[in-house]
Amino acid sequence: QRPRSAAQPKNQRIPGVKHVIAVASGKGGVGKSTTACNLALGLKTLGLKVGLLDADIYGPSMPKLMGIHGKPRLLENRILEPMEAYGIKVMSIGFLVEEEAAMIWRGPMVMSAITQMLREVAWGDLDVLVVDMPPGTGDAQLTMAQATPLAGAVIVSTPQDLALIDARRGVSMFKRVEIPILGIVENMATFVCPHCGQSSHIFGHGGARDEASRLGVPFLGEIPLNMTIRELSDAGRPVVVAEPEGPHAGIYKSMAQQV
Ligand code: ADP
Repeated sequence: QRPRSAAQPKNQRIPGVKHVIAVASGKGGVGKSTTACNLALGLKTLGLKVGLLDADIYGPSMPKLMGIHGKPRLLENRILEPMEAYGIKVMSIGFLVEEEAAMIWRGPMVMSAITQMLREVAWGDLDVLVVDMPPGTGDAQLTMAQATPLAGAVIVSTPQDLALIDARRGVSMFKRVEIPILGIVENMATFVCPHCGQSSHIFGHGGARDEASRLGVPFLGEIPLNMTIRELSDAGRPVVVAEPEGPHAGIYKSMAQQV
């Protein structure tokens, strides 16, 4: 049973945008936004024209992650000009309203904000638009999944059982609306102690790989729990641009090649 609402959008292509990829997670805090922005930058290194849409209405993080300040310009016909950073066009509700304002929005407002950010933005010609989805598998996620034809979805999970149960729910939601699963990413798997060099698996290890094989979907790679990734994200310099030849950038780039 699919939720219906007055704001049910039409499943139409966005003019000029060739492919739309959703980055989703069953729950918050697993590294979905970090993955979305580094995946987008990884796709850019392949020579593609890339856009990044932050559809995480209740917790927009792209302004900070991509180090963007200021507000988008309003063009003619009420179309917004996307912001730009590191050669990527970016739109986020975080550019438009105070975080506390969007926090209290009800479903229909969330849905209309998402469809506006998809359609009333001058994306121009893009090979790929990466969408950082809201966490979870509720109404906003379904709206997004149905608002435009999605080329596929990448699911991000940490290795714990609880996160994996939520990730499975995410996979089944996309399958239900017939959107291909491009693969599962395991985030925060291995932690290498910077002092002694020993590896620990703080949230477990390999769960997402096993889950991917159980569900018959590709496993796109594992990203370690690493302080540099967190510090660079907080500083608005994602690891793919800050350390392009480093090991973490390599993982995101290989992910970009697979999707
Ligand atoms: P979500 O979008 O799922 O809520 P975020 O991408 O915002 O998650 O990540 C939550 C927090 O975890 C952020 O502070 C981020 O910098 C940090 N983080 C994400 N992935 C990693 C990682 N692999 N190593 C270290 N910190 C990470």
